[in-house]
This record gives sequence, C-alpha cells and structure tokens, in this order.
Amino acid sequence: MSQPEQHSFQAEIQQLLSIVIHSLYTDREVFVRELVSNAADACEKIRFLRTSGEVAGEEASPSITVTTDESAGTLTIADTGIGMTRDELVKNLGTIAHSGTKAFLKALAEQQKPDTRLIGQFGVGFYSAFMAAQRVDVYSRSQREAGEGWRWTSEGGGGFTLEPAPEATPGTRIVLTLKEDAKDFAKGPTLERIIRRYSNFVAFPLELNGTRVNTVQAIWARSKNEVKEEEYTEFYEYLAHDSEAPLYRLHFTADAPIAIQALLYVPSRSLEMPGMVRQESDVHLYCRKVLIDSKPRGLLPEWLRFVRGVVDSEDLPLNVSRERMQDSDLMRKLSKALTNRFLKHLSEEAEKNAEAYGKFHAEYHRFLKEGVLSDWENQAALGKLLRYESSATEAGKKTSLADYVKRMPEGQKEIYYLLAKDRASAEASPYFEVFRERKFEVLFVDDPIDEFVMDRLREFEGKEITAAEKAELDLENANKDGALSDDDANVLSGWLKATLGEGVNAVRSSKRLVDSPVVAVESDKFMTGTMRRTLKMMGKDPSAAGMDSAPDLEINPRHPVVVKLNQLRQTDAMLAGLVAEQLFDQARLASGRLEDPRAMLQRMNTLLSKVVGA
Ligand code: ADP
Ligand code: MG
Repeated sequence: MSQPEQHSFQAEIQQLLSIVIHSLYTDREVFVRELVSNAADACEKIRFLRTSGEVAGEEASPSITVTTDESAGTLTIADTGIGMTRDELVKNLGTIAHSGTKAFLKALAEQQKPDTRLIGQFGVGFYSAFMAAQRVDVYSRSQREAGEGWRWTSEGGGGFTLEPAPEATPGTRIVLTLKEDAKDFAKGPTLERIIRRYSNFVAFPLELNGTRVNTVQAIWARSKNEVKEEEYTEFYEYLAHDSEAPLYRLHFTADAPIAIQALLYVPSRSLEMPGMVRQESDVHLYCRKVLIDSKPRGLLPEWLRFVRGVVDSEDLPLNVSRERMQDSDLMRKLSKALTNRFLKHLSEEAEKNAEAYGKFHAEYHRFLKEGVLSDWENQAALGKLLRYESSATEAGKKTSLADYVKRMPEGQKEIYYLLAKDRASAEASPYFEVFRERKFEVLFVDDPIDEFVMDRLREFEGKEITAAEKAELDLENANKDGALSDDDANVLSGWLKATLGEGVNAVRSSKRLVDSPVVAVESDKFMTGTMRRTLKMMGKDPSAAGMDSAPDLEINPRHPVVVKLNQLRQTDAMLAGLVAEQLFDQARLASGRLEDPRAMLQRMNTLLSKVVGA
C-alpha cells in the first residue's frame, strides 16, 4: 500500500486552528452543531440532485447517524449525503474559500475568550472539530461522481494526509478521537443534550446510538397551509412546556427587507407577576433551522418578552460577532419587522374577535402599557390596542380609544380619563360630576401606571388626552337659584384662603361641581394626584422637583354648605373656621392627598358635638 499523501493547510487555516485549539472555550460543544449542520447540508444537496434528476437515486432518504464510543473515546458523525471526492476533500477541508475570513480571524484573535458561536457563522465550522478532537478522520465517498472513497486525516497541526479508503460508504463519516479533556463528548447523554439543544430541527432523520433524536419538525419553515393544527399544538408544547393552548399564534414569512420565517405564540397566561421576577424573553433565533442563539438580545423589544417562539432568518450576518450583532443594522431590521407584524396581528385579532382579545388584554395589558412608556416608535400602535372601562360602557366591558373617539359628541374636544380604584368610586368622584352633567364620556382607569400611559400618549387621533381633574369644563346650564353671587363667592374664596393658609395655593369658584361642595385640584399644570403619590412611592421627592405644590381649592357656589358657610363666617367665625378646614380635608381626602386623617377625625367629633348640642 502506498504512503498517505501529505498536504499542508492554507496559512489562514493554520492560524485559525492555532486559535481554536489553544483557547479555552466555555461552550465548545457547538462543534457538534457545526458537524451536524454540515451533514444536514450534505443530505440536502443529494436530495436536491436526486429530485432534479442529476443523480439517479432509488436510495432511502438521506440521514445522519451519530455514535459515541466511550471506551474508545471517539465520537462519529456520519451522513448519507452527497459525500466528497478526493479533490473536494482537499479544497473544502484544506482551504477557506469564504470572504470575510480575515475579518473573522482578526475578531477571534482580538478576543480574550473567543466566542465559539462565531465559528459557524464564518463558514469555517468544520475546524471547530479540533476544539474537542486530537485527531479527525474524514471518510468520504462522493455520490455525485463515481469514484473511490477517501480518508482525510489531520491532527490539527500544519496539515493533513489523504489516502484511499475503499471501505468508505457513500456519504461522509467523520470520526473524532477526543482530547483527554473532551472525553465527555463520547457519552451518549451528553451528546443527546447537545443535539437536542442545537440540532433538534434538522430536516433529516438524526439517530444517536440507534435512537431517533429529532422528532419535532421545524414547522416554522413550512408553508402555513401545510402545517396541521396538531403540529402547531405539539410544537408549542415542546417549545413552551405548556399544555394549555396558547391565546394567539402567528406564523408568517417575509422576504423584504429581510428574510424571516417566524412562528410566535402568546401563552394563555403571563408568567410574570407585577413586582415579582421578570420574565425572560424566550424567542429563539435560527438560521436555516440551526439554532444560532436561544436568547438573542434585541430580537424583540423588552415589552414583548411574553412571546414564545422561533425566528429563522437566512440573512443573519456572517461576519459580525454576537455582541455586535445585537446592535447591528440587521438585528434592528429583524426586530422592527417582527414587532410591526406582531402588532398588526394583535390589532387584526382584536377586530376579529373582541372577546378573545379581551382575554389577551386582561393577561398582558401591562406589557402593552410598558411598551407605550418605553417604545417610542410603537407608542401610537400600542395606544390603539389598549382597552378601558368607561362611563359609556357596561360594568366590566371595555372600550378602545378609537371607539371612544367615534362616540364623542359635538362640543367635546378632548379624551378624558379618571383614575379611581373602581367604577363606583369613579362615578362618585367630584371630578366626574361635570362629565355626567354634560354627557361626556370618561375612561375609568384603575391602575396608577395608566396615568403615566395617558400622559405619554398625550393624544389619540388628534384628540388630546386629559385627566378629568384637569379638564377645563364648565357646567353649561348650572342652576343659579340660591347660589352665591359672584361677588360673594369671591369674598368667601378670599376668606377661605386666609383661613386655610399655606396648605392651599388658591381658592376660587368652580364651574363644574354639581353635588360636591368643594374639590381640590392640582395647581401644577403637569401634575396629577396619582403621579405625585407614585413618585413618592418610588422614593422620589416631588417637592424637590417643585412638584408638591399645594393644591387649589374650588368651591361650588350653588352648594348649600358653601352658601351657608358664607353666612356662618360672619356670625360664628370659630365654627366657620372648623367647617372650612373640614371641607378642605375632605377635598384632600377625595384627591388622595390626605395622608393622616387623625386631625380630620378629631375635628369631625368637635363638629358632631355641636350638631347634637353637646
Ligand atoms: P460551511 O459549512 O460554512 O461551508 P465548513 O467549514 O463547515 O463551512 O465546511 C466546509 C465545506 O466542507 C463545506 O462547505 C462542504 O463543502 C464540505 N463539507 C463539510 N462537511 C461535509 C459533509 N459531511 N459532507 C459533504 N461535504 C462536507
Ligand atoms: Mg458548516
């Protein structure tokens, strides 16, 4: 038998190998993914040649076989794919044809701990075998060109040897003799874990030590009408480990501006509870069915972290590191396209089935609101997806802002909202009175975050959004019978200001109160009661920012208590003073400003004593 032929590697490969071999890799297991992907590519090639008739083939579907041999310390990855001729072995495994390799080498050399995931992206995946193997034997026989089988051998140094291998069967078999510190890769369970992680969706049957591994299909890569409902369900269960049916499913493909195959699900329940652990995004990024990143940062905006699924893009960059991929143009395009499509899906679903959308909204409204606050670009689209109860809906039913705007009567210029803990308190609020009188709809919001959301949205379809307590509205036909005259109201206001002192910013006559004698309103144009309380809760001092200014007090000149008070201040200044303070405290209580009610209760007792004549 003749001596094996000696070949040296192209200079770049030598350089690459020395980096690969002499670095400590934390996740060198990706070499399995690379070799399995190559095997899958080879299977794809032969399948294509057979279907196109270039290669005659009665053969069974190509497949991939992985075997581990713990006692021998070897790992074998074999495929019945296209195989390689002698020349192809030399060319494909001895030189690097891809452009961008220089950049890749530079990137690798510059990193302290090279990112092995880069390897596959640069079309040099094969050499990652040397991270774990001290020697690699490649047995191959081409199915395209008749000819003998060859064996390619290298220990990763300067070169490789080639010799005929009559025993080589059609396809390629790669035998890795593992390094001392890589013997773990000769264990079945280790390999199973790795294959399931990275190569679960390879399109050809993959057996590990005689057992089929990849049973779940990459249904996202198939056309929508070819995928059965059970397959979607099975895939979701596999993906989300959730046996409850998802609320929504979105399966779509796009070509421009970037190639996308995506299958996204919204689980029936949000896993996140306010104030508890934050959910992590769980949409995996694939390139041609091979996992690139299971937690790709920046693939979707933060507020979409409740979405589960898979995104596959064959346009993923080959010459950027993961760190840079995060803020690469491509990633941004991908993210934008996915987000837009998802938002569109939600609004279509909301149109189609309001009840189902209601379920979604109940479960995920906080994420949408977070989006309004954090994702400027999608704010308007998110605003359309929000739903609130309002004075025009039945209890428990919600409306969209769009429907609200449609209902707005002539004369109503703005969209109003009122924050209260429930419908009953909203309807009883002094701030609501003028709206009830004028038949203007008010959105009832019960979550302090909504105040920030409204503040951020600012407007909807050109209508300004205003807090009810800030609305500058008058009662149109207020009954003036028995009311204080404007002069009297002014005098009383002045007296109240003098009596109440610093605690009140200004006192004036109100044009919007019906049933309540007084109401406290924020004197600062940009502040609302809840915002101030929320700032306090967050440990921020609103007064430091000049935001804790004393409120204004509006009095209802038509209310008997106010009318009587104006007389009382002239006959019994002491008692009038008590009543004034009591009214003010009540106003503060209704606006959520009164933090300590003890003084108010004491005063109440004094007043009650007077009433009963004690
Ligand atoms: P890439 O897969 O990106 O082309 P690799 O370094 O992984 O880069 O592989 C280099 C080349 O070697 C492949 O393009 C292919 O032509 C050839 N090759 C590798 N593995 C196989 C295999 N199992 N069967 C046939 N050809 C293979
Ligand atoms: Mg490859």
